[in-house]
Amino acid sequence: MSWDFETDEEYASQLEWVDGFVTEFAEPLDYVIPDSMDFGNPSRQALIPPLQDVVKERGFWACHLGPELGGKGFGQVKLALLNEILGRSRCAPAVFGCQAPDSGNAEIIARFGSSELKAKYLAPLLNGQIASCFSMTEPGGGADPTMFVTRAEQDGDMWRIDGEKWFSSGAHRAAFLIVMAVTDPENPPHERASMFIVPAETPGIEIIRNVGLTGSSQGDHSYIRYTDVRVPLDHMLGERGGAFRVAQSRLGGGRIHHAMRTVGVAQRAFEMLCERALSRQTQGERLSKKQLVQEMIAESWLELEQFRLLVLRTAWKIDRYDDYQRVRGDISAVKILLPRVLEHIASRALQVHGSLGVSNEMPFIGMITTAYSLGLADGPTEVHKVTLASQALRKHTPTEDLFPTRHIPRLRADAYRRLAPLLAERGIQLELG
Ligand SMILES: Cc1cc2nc3c(=O)[nH]c(=O)nc-3n(C[C@H](O)[C@H](O)[C@H](O)COP(=O)(O)OP(=O)(O)OC[C@H]3O[C@@H](n4cnc5c(N)ncnc54)[C@H](O)[C@@H]3O)c2cc1C
Repeated sequence: MSWDFETDEEYASQLEWVDGFVTEFAEPLDYVIPDSMDFGNPSRQALIPPLQDVVKERGFWACHLGPELGGKGFGQVKLALLNEILGRSRCAPAVFGCQAPDSGNAEIIARFGSSELKAKYLAPLLNGQIASCFSMTEPGGGADPTMFVTRAEQDGDMWRIDGEKWFSSGAHRAAFLIVMAVTDPENPPHERASMFIVPAETPGIEIIRNVGLTGSSQGDHSYIRYTDVRVPLDHMLGERGGAFRVAQSRLGGGRIHHAMRTVGVAQRAFEMLCERALSRQTQGERLSKKQLVQEMIAESWLELEQFRLLVLRTAWKIDRYDDYQRVRGDISAVKILLPRVLEHIASRALQVHGSLGVSNEMPFIGMITTAYSLGLADGPTEVHKVTLASQALRKHTPTEDLFPTRHIPRLRADAYRRLAPLLAERGIQLELG
């Protein structure tokens, strides 16, 4: 029997080093490097690789992969504590070799790639020499992948891919794309598609445009057309018709890692909320003296702590069971809370900063946009609510009776039946209330 809410001393001191390193070296990068994986930017090339070398030396590089996949085997709880620090800085994940979507893509290739594919794509990806893209969502529908229509047909010793993909993040700088395409349209819906590695230089890949998020000057999410794109047969990842399994193995980890980093962003928003409340004066007193502001602080604290504990417990369950299917409901719960908690805390911090809060001199609108994005990426909140509800319902059974099992008159009658004779032995008459 053990319930432990403490970090062991050795790891805590390592985290202290990470905290200082991120504050001193990674956070400043966010103001000078627009895209932490843009290898064509000389500033990025001058500043990030030396920091990556330090991280490698300290043993914190690409910690998300388990030992069986060639990684450090930190486990998810340690990762959670690490990622909440990295979440504070946009560039920190690249400095630590765990940036999305490369972290999830590496996991896919490590699990499902042949040794040739691993040597060609995984090794340089894990070394931080190239970037990758996950190209699954289509313009005709994202939340329901059974609607995807991009086709892959075998043509001699090649697969020929035709179709369009939408919001393929980072495609414009990727060395390869992982593409989901229908290979077996006659199969049941979840066994129709397969997953492929497509090198970015393959003829027939056309980026129609790079779409940006609201408020961002750069477009990072590509709308792509694949026309007669040919890849060798061995570029399939996993089994034919197995794309859903491959995608799930990546998305489970991806979702919980987003949540871990979001804890860090929400903590930062909370710190800013408190600092402003303690600093700003109005009507002769500080904002922190106003009860409505105190309510904002209390609500934010509650939401943040509950969310963080749920993230940590889910991380613990992943370590314990080593089975994403078994923790599907927990991951969905975390995924549902993630945008809500960040949006609430960032909105309160914005409000307390007044006009400054809504300006482009503070990060709150960006945090709120991030919250909305995280409510869509890796599946919309509504879909995760459906998953959570169905997982929760599995642990319950219906009653055949007209009245519920815990109908008070029934419970009272049962109790009377059991306890009245015991009391009668002692000469006490039990009366029905
Ligand atoms: C920042 C960002 C980065 C992304 N990066 C990638 C990427 O790298 N690769 C990639 O392939 N995709 C990526 N996506 C796409 C993402 O996976 C999709 O946005 C998501 O799956 C939803 O698909 P959709 O946008 O087509 O919305 P739709 O499928 O059109 O859904 C729209 C809305 O309908 C509602 N809805 C949908 N299903 C249900 C349901 N079952 N019950 C009730 N309501 C429902 C929800 O409100 C949902 O938001 C990214 C998205 C964002 C925002």
